[in-house]
Amino acid sequence: MRGLLFLARFEYLRREHGPGMVAAVLQALDPSDRGALRGVDRREWYPFGTLVRLDRAIARITAPGDDAIYERIGRACARHRTEWLGPDARFHSIHGFLSRLADQHPRLHSFGEAVYLRHGFRDGTIAFSKYPELEGAFCRATLGYLRGAVERLSGAPVAALERSCQCRRDESCQFWISWAR
Ligand SMILES: [Zn+2]
Repeated sequence: MRGLLFLARFEYLRREHGPGMVAAVLQALDPSDRGALRGVDRREWYPFGTLVRLDRAIARITAPGDDAIYERIGRACARHRTEWLGPDARFHSIHGFLSRLADQHPRLHSFGEAVYLRHGFRDGTIAFSKYPELEGAFCRATLGYLRGAVERLSGAPVAALERSCQCRRDESCQFWISWAR
């Protein structure tokens, strides 16, 4: 996974809990993960397993027993990746954004495939497949990311659902998204 995804998590911890929390979470990781994450570069590649263990450590330390934390982590990444669109973000086409997200999958992941399918004027499905490693927490973060990004772009409420999941032996993780305007 690209370093950008790790940096978005550190920024989330700093913003929500202060700089001390980044150190506390890193301290909770085993030495090899901690070593890998020293001086993360946004363009470098890091193991998927390290990202999963980082998210689990964030959950354990900042929100014990609260499963919704994974969606919040994903939502924080949405903030990171839609910010460059600027204040007129809601005027961009959401279908265009989601289809670009699928096209850009290889820029952030060294594995898997992504396809976007437009349904109607205001809904579509993005499907991820061929993941060599599966992790439900990562799917929940993806759902949070999609919901957060489309909310920011549309400026309106969003419904999002993971309708099939590779963790349940489905062929792909299909995220359906529908926005009010
Ligand atoms: Zn899934």
